[in-house]
Amino acid sequence: TVRVRFAPSPTGLVHVGTIRSALQNWVYAKQHNGVFVLRIEDTDAARNRQEWIDGILDALDWVGIERGSYEGPYFQSAYAPDHIAAATRLYGEGKAYYCGCKRDDVIARTGNQHSGYDGFCRDKDLGPGDGRALRFRTPDEGETVVEDLVRGKPTFENKLIEDFVIARGDGSPLFLLANVVDDMTMGITHVFRAEEHLPNTPKQQMLWEALGHTPPVWGHVPVIVNEKRQKLSKRRDKVALESYRDEGYLAAALKNYLMLLGWAPSGDREIVPWQVIEDEYRIEEVNHASAFFDIKKLRAFNGDYIRALAPEEFAACCAPWLQGTDTIAAPPWRPEAFDLQVFSAVAPLAQTRIAVLSEIVEYVDFLFLDEPVRDEASWAKAMKGEAAEILDATAAAFEALETWAAEPLKAALEEVGLARELKLGKTQAPVRVAVTGRTVGLPLFESIEVLGRERTLRRLLAARA
Ligand code: GLU
Repeated sequence: TVRVRFAPSPTGLVHVGTIRSALQNWVYAKQHNGVFVLRIEDTDAARNRQEWIDGILDALDWVGIERGSYEGPYFQSAYAPDHIAAATRLYGEGKAYYCGCKRDDVIARTGNQHSGYDGFCRDKDLGPGDGRALRFRTPDEGETVVEDLVRGKPTFENKLIEDFVIARGDGSPLFLLANVVDDMTMGITHVFRAEEHLPNTPKQQMLWEALGHTPPVWGHVPVIVNEKRQKLSKRRDKVALESYRDEGYLAAALKNYLMLLGWAPSGDREIVPWQVIEDEYRIEEVNHASAFFDIKKLRAFNGDYIRALAPEEFAACCAPWLQGTDTIAAPPWRPEAFDLQVFSAVAPLAQTRIAVLSEIVEYVDFLFLDEPVRDEASWAKAMKGEAAEILDATAAAFEALETWAAEPLKAALEEVGLARELKLGKTQAPVRVAVTGRTVGLPLFESIEVLGRERTLRRLLAARA
């Protein structure tokens, strides 16, 4: 059976590229009736934190790779004895040797800052101890061919691969070795991961063979890049899945978008049910060029997904921003001021306008705040010229209305404008700002209808003060 694994290191928030790898492995496992294994590579004790581990599990849940539906999590740290045993075995079989060279010694000998290890200790028969590292003896001849479903057959000349370190001077195994030993222990048959690991792969393949196993089938997927074609990085770019989630990207939109980087479903479609991706995705078809992670496009994509939600789904999706959570700031109104019926009355109007769910707050806050926000730029722009007169006339006209509804409200405001030979837009501007605090927002008359007579009149008057 196919056994794939997702092997993140819990050293920070979850990178969107990491989740892309998880999804690719997940889909491959689904397509082959295989098993998806989660292995937390927690060997960097200085950087690992429980919260990052929880973050990985939560992120996987969020994209639909739910706790309980995969094997694990296993923790790499628990397998340290296996890693050490493998290192000892390789040494015992003469496939690895101890080396006491410092980096500076190598540079002094080769005269090259960037040179790999020169093999100085290769045949010295040094024993362990004295802070000596253990190096794997790589072949001097021949080639290592990597069977890669994405890249074809990347081929590496063995003589260019240095005798690499598999265990440090203190005996602790390196990533390269630990990762291979765990993959063997866990019976991994396919490894799909980011292309940045490809240079490690011939070395890892040598370790698989030296330890007497057939290497897995690999698939190295081109990385995702920003608009300057730089690899997405934590320092430069918004890469944390958590930040997209908390800004109000829908899991369905983000996961589809990630799978559509470098690949497309049949029929020129972009918005497809996840099931289509699960059926049609072919890791072999992923484009060899790095894929542009276009946040503008993702935003637009997310907006399309938001608009496709049923009204109840939309309201449920907005809840975290209407209430606040551990990681999402509470909205600016008093919690008891919120009214679900009032919200539901305007929600469909907001649903067509927002691209990310967090934007819901600024569209509806005027309904739940005692006073509307005061966006100074909006006030300065709208409250000039005849604004005061318009507000007075509007207040009078609204007060006289028998039926408080969008249509008559609109007719009343049109009257106010007509008397001054103003277009509706001009007449609306100060009224909108007085009532909602901003120059842009939901359709005005529906908003005023929902806000109600008393509060509207109060705000029109207050804006005159
Ligand atoms: N822990 C490694 C990483 O997060 C795993 C690499 C691999 O998939 O083999 O980069």
